[in-house]
Amino acid sequence: MKKILYIVLDGLGGRPEASLGYKTTLEAAYTPHMDSLAKKGQLGLMDPISEGIAPESDAAVLSILGYDVDKYYTGRGPLEAHGSDIEVKDGDLAWRANFATVDEDTLRILDRRAGRNLTTEEAKALAEEVNSKVKLEGADFIFKATVGHRGVLVIRKNDGKLSANVENIDPGYKRHGPYSIAITNPPVEVQKCIPLDESFEAKESARLTNEFVMKAFEVLKNSEINKRRRNEGKKPANIILLRDAGDSLPKIPTLKELYGLSFGSIVEMPVERGIALLTGMKEVPIEDSTNYKLWADKVLEALKEFDGVYAHLKGPDVPGHDGLVDKKKESIEKIDAEFFSNLLPYLDFSKVVIAVTADHSTPCSLKAHSEDPVPLMIVTSGLQWDGSEYFGESSCAKGKLGRIKGKDLLPLLVEIARK
Ligand code: ZN
Ligand code: ZN
Repeated sequence: MKKILYIVLDGLGGRPEASLGYKTTLEAAYTPHMDSLAKKGQLGLMDPISEGIAPESDAAVLSILGYDVDKYYTGRGPLEAHGSDIEVKDGDLAWRANFATVDEDTLRILDRRAGRNLTTEEAKALAEEVNSKVKLEGADFIFKATVGHRGVLVIRKNDGKLSANVENIDPGYKRHGPYSIAITNPPVEVQKCIPLDESFEAKESARLTNEFVMKAFEVLKNSEINKRRRNEGKKPANIILLRDAGDSLPKIPTLKELYGLSFGSIVEMPVERGIALLTGMKEVPIEDSTNYKLWADKVLEALKEFDGVYAHLKGPDVPGHDGLVDKKKESIEKIDAEFFSNLLPYLDFSKVVIAVTADHSTPCSLKAHSEDPVPLMIVTSGLQWDGSEYFGESSCAKGKLGRIKGKDLLPLLVEIARK
């Protein structure tokens, strides 16, 4: 059986941009290495979850790893927590958190990401202060800063369970079943957490969440770190916005149980790590995730050890959110020039099936994830070239793979690898 190499470029997909002569960032980017793959394999489009859904990364990744999200997804918070090495028991309330900046009198949000310049060190020190100074009535909590302005909060009641059926504090997202949907033109005020049903558990979740947010605000407002940031002309990280609560981890079968195969994973962000660990993939740590040559080396090493390797590179998503067309194009070019150039010459396609795709599209013109299907290509010996000349949305739309659903990709790769 061949080995499976599954590469996901976060937010790779896009829409035609006027400033690029109506090409997408992927089409406009100079990507000779990815294009060389397109000239050997088959292309297609993939709806990460299903047509018409603009997914967040977590549900998308679960889906493109072959899991039915309608059946398994329990919210982002528990996955973030699991990937940050915080235990989530059934009945714990786990939130995805963001440090943000509010006006201290009106609680109006001035910056959703505290200027996007909060260092991980500053965030970790602020989290430590919150953990040591905030006490909740009838519950314990762990608040952990992860990467930059991002973090995770888990609240555990001293007796009894909590319910995740509560609305987000973060006004940018509204609950929709276990999912949150990004809102266009959201309200600027920090929201109160409200229960979405009449249960005692949901009411307690809302009470404890509101208590945490306001007590943490008092601590952060007065923190020395924020005083220093104000003096340096930076925005204080004075509020913690919470969204995507979950009250249990998804109970999913592992990839080994499903396919009998061992997988290694190379990922950057806690939420992807959480999912990778849940699926039973072994973690291959990457010491410096900005070094794409190192990513290539790690992938090649891991391919020797495992039946399959999942590599998830964050690159193109962030400039997509920021609406920076040139930066997104550069990010794709950098991945091609530094990752694929150091990877492809060492792959033997009689022994490896490679798939390159994305977890969702992040068009610069939207500054958000979109429902557009993502580009996909699969290359291995024995899989006949479909005539594609380059890797891009338009060529993928004409590719032989057609348009598939995210949850069908991994089973397809396993089938191709077994041929
Ligand atoms: Zn993503
Ligand atoms: Zn994103």
